[in-house]
Amino acid sequence: MKLQSIRGMNDLLPTESPSWQYLEKTVSGLLARYGYSEIRFPIVESTELFKRSIGEVTDIVEKEMYSFDDRNGDPLTLRPEGTAGCVRAALQNGLLHNQLQRLWYAGPMFRHERPQKGRLRQFHQIGVETFGMDGPQIDAELLVFTARLWAELGLSEAVTLQINSLGSAADRARYRAALIDYLAARRDQLDEDSQRRLASNPLRILDSKSDATQALLAGAPTLGDFIDQPSRDHFAQLCALLDAAGVAYQVNPRLVRGLDYYSKTVFEWVTDALGAQGTVCAGGRYDGLVEQLGGKPCPAVGLAMGVERLVLLLDELGQLPDSVAQQVDIYLAAVGDVALPAQQLAEQLRSAGSWRLQLDCAGGSFKSQLKRADRSGAELAVILGEDEVAAGSAVVKYLRNGEQASVEQSELAGVLTAHFAAKN
Ligand code: ATP
Ligand code: MG
Repeated sequence: MKLQSIRGMNDLLPTESPSWQYLEKTVSGLLARYGYSEIRFPIVESTELFKRSIGEVTDIVEKEMYSFDDRNGDPLTLRPEGTAGCVRAALQNGLLHNQLQRLWYAGPMFRHERPQKGRLRQFHQIGVETFGMDGPQIDAELLVFTARLWAELGLSEAVTLQINSLGSAADRARYRAALIDYLAARRDQLDEDSQRRLASNPLRILDSKSDATQALLAGAPTLGDFIDQPSRDHFAQLCALLDAAGVAYQVNPRLVRGLDYYSKTVFEWVTDALGAQGTVCAGGRYDGLVEQLGGKPCPAVGLAMGVERLVLLLDELGQLPDSVAQQVDIYLAAVGDVALPAQQLAEQLRSAGSWRLQLDCAGGSFKSQLKRADRSGAELAVILGEDEVAAGSAVVKYLRNGEQASVEQSELAGVLTAHFAAKN
């Protein structure tokens, strides 16, 4: 039997990792410019943490978590999302005590879903969480940040922002009751999934993909009519801040999100360029969660973006820069009995510039080394043979046009520097 990876858990191959690095670098670079700090927390946490934060009757906790007992019999879960672990870590380490925090993290998440394009069982998120700020300014900051990110990535034309307000937990409970009243009286017109949700998580019915259910919902009470004045004001101010920043959005009264902990603002950035898996970034405010997990009340708002979906989108739209595919700038071919001087020259050149220099360590003929130089994607080959070592020189070959020149080793770094400087 061949050993295989787990279904829905992909390898990221050397040809693919540069796109991921490009995305990760762009996001972390921009987050740094907004004054956000990275936090790292474990991939495995106690199952209780996710049950208490995400909610017992959500899709994630009911049917998507990878949970197991460890050798001590402790119930553990591979994290299905980052917010719970981030809040746990922030609380445990005193980061929320009279402090404001702007944090981000990146890494794998695990959900037992049906694998398809843009939907995996091990997938990756970059998440952002802020703590201690209750006004709409920080909600706006997150959305302005994401809008700028899409612009830097060349994705602005492909994504749109949907926002909604869920009000307070009490508002939602009142709305939940009204929605159940309305739908229970029309139960037989609901699709099967929605009938099941009526008892467990009726707000999720608003997301239903069934046309009949959506038609029925047209006459249902809307959450917007149930939210309190502070939530209304918060939402109106957020909209005004987005207007002023020139960030376009659609208010979607049906947007509820699948996790229990949200309150007030929720949002999704969606694209129609990826088929059914169209949400590339989603988040919202969760003012109650810190207290729910044992801390003092602490307002919070955050988001998570799906790395696989964003890389797909960059690829689909042709927005990956050419430089992403190129991993080597200079290939040093060492022909003949020159292993030692070749290694010394390689190290000298690595001290002299920040170019990416690969040294041929496989040997063989001049021809086979030059073939490898071509395949490496390098622009330049530096060729060192026995004659060159004796003469203190090297041959620089421009692989794009085939030109070449003999250069004194003492002048080599200068020639390479001039070549790459001329390009920028
Ligand atoms: P969806 O409605 O697509 O299932 P979700 O509401 O479950 O998304 P969140 O928990 O909000 O997703 O996660 C934030 C982002 O993480 C999503 O917008 C998406 O880009 C990405 N994501 C979520 N689940 C998966 C998955 N199984 N595979 C790949 N990416 C995912
Ligand atoms: Mg989901």
